Amino acid sequence: MDKQMLISGLREIVGDSNVLFSDMDLTLYGYDASLDKGLPDVVVLPGSTEEVASVVSLAHREEVPIIARGSGTNLSGGTIPTRGGIILHLSRMNRILEIDISNRTVTVEPGVITLDLQNRLLEEGFVYTPDPASQKVSTLGGNIGENSGGPHCLKYGVTTNHVLGAEVVLHDGNVVWVGGKSQDNPGYDLMGLLVGSEGTLGVVTKMILRILRAPEDVKTMLAIYNTIEDAGNTVSAIIAEGIVPATLEMMDQLVMKAVEESVHAGYPLDAAAVLIIELDGLRDGMERQSQKILEICRANGVRDIQIAKDDAERARLWAGRKGAFGAVSRLRPTYMVCDGTVPRTKLPEVLNKVLQVGEKYGLSIGNVFHAGDGNLHPLILFDERDEKELEAAKEASSEILKICVEAGGTISGEHGIGIEKLEEMSLIFSEADFEAMRRVKRAMDPRDILNPGKVIPAAQC
Ligand SMILES: Cc1cc2nc3c(=O)[nH]c(=O)nc-3n(C[C@H](O)[C@H](O)[C@H](O)COP(=O)(O)OP(=O)(O)OC[C@H]3O[C@@H](n4cnc5c(N)ncnc54)[C@H](O)[C@@H]3O)c2cc1C
Repeated sequence: MDKQMLISGLREIVGDSNVLFSDMDLTLYGYDASLDKGLPDVVVLPGSTEEVASVVSLAHREEVPIIARGSGTNLSGGTIPTRGGIILHLSRMNRILEIDISNRTVTVEPGVITLDLQNRLLEEGFVYTPDPASQKVSTLGGNIGENSGGPHCLKYGVTTNHVLGAEVVLHDGNVVWVGGKSQDNPGYDLMGLLVGSEGTLGVVTKMILRILRAPEDVKTMLAIYNTIEDAGNTVSAIIAEGIVPATLEMMDQLVMKAVEESVHAGYPLDAAAVLIIELDGLRDGMERQSQKILEICRANGVRDIQIAKDDAERARLWAGRKGAFGAVSRLRPTYMVCDGTVPRTKLPEVLNKVLQVGEKYGLSIGNVFHAGDGNLHPLILFDERDEKELEAAKEASSEILKICVEAGGTISGEHGIGIEKLEEMSLIFSEADFEAMRRVKRAMDPRDILNPGKVIPAAQC
């Protein structure tokens, strides 16, 4: 379809001011938090399910790619247009529609910012637990798209464990509901299929999420180590003891230094690693559990343990952890986050190999990650304006993911595949696996208009 006609058609649906197509706008929507770039033909900001359905229906009729977008913070190129087309920016659909305390659910639109929902729920004494470090900016639609995790997912599970139902606009503009408020739904688990599908199977326009009562008490500890091995061994030992803390996050020296310069969280600059260990739940029994954790830390060579005395101290420790990705930008202009997952017991061995990869390619690599889940986030620091460094960073990232797979892990814990990790998909899937995935994609999007070129590698001819 001619671009001018496409723009006119979209303006009729959402109004002139909600269709963007200047060079500046298209450039701004041509990147996300990954290293990739592309250019859409037009950006649309719908205000309702009906408008989304009409836009998707137009895209279907004219066979124009359509890419759902929340805040564009995904780290794998998930919102980069690979063949131009329409960016469907859902930021105007940002209402919390219902807080249903009796059924412990909330119904929201996809453009709600994750932290806005969490803050609103706290007023009622409730929580929505998936907490990506980007929660100040990320949207709930984007969280579904990526099946996002976060520090508290060790105990409570990732996004998919908290989504009960959704209203979805299908490839041809038809609107359906999958799942619902009840705990069990007969038939295929389409909700499970949609979560983590990166906008390639449908556009979520409403969602029903599970909420929990806010914990009665929280205890946050900072365990300080002289070696990464000791910190890693502590993680395995805590879980082996049968304790599942709310969080078990690890940070190494390079990251702590960057964080201290920007956030002043009070991390020790001479330590090799720290663990942020948080317990939450009933007050009764928490002291006993925290004593047990202290014992385990001591048995694994901890140098010192600080316990947050109040909410302000706890918030400071978390501000450092959640600001870590941003803080490393002080060290080099660009960072690339790897998102491999390994069995917890392999953490010390794999972290050592990650350091060796850094030495091999002459690149600094910092580590800040969800240690309890074995979900590594090596941050490769470089300058993307230097072609050689960019190439080295990509090779180093690929090598790290290979190391994770060889250790019995996988290539993504929570950041998705997008376009950045298409090549690495063949480290864990066979051509037969890909063909099964392509059949699902063809069934749900026969014209390949929904976020094309993502998640599944193209078939080899
Ligand atoms: C500093 C930083 C820290 C981060 N920390 C974490 C972390 O701790 N844990 C974690 O898991 N991730 C983390 N991320 C990655 C990112 O924030 C998450 O993937 C987040 O869920 C993306 O939300 P978004 O609104 O930005 O989505 P976008 O990036 O806009 O979109 C993400 C994907 O979802 C699809 N999508 C968006 N909306 C919809 C919809 N309504 N229907 C269907 N598909 C849709 C898009 O097409 C795309 O494929 C971090 C990123 C940054 C920059």
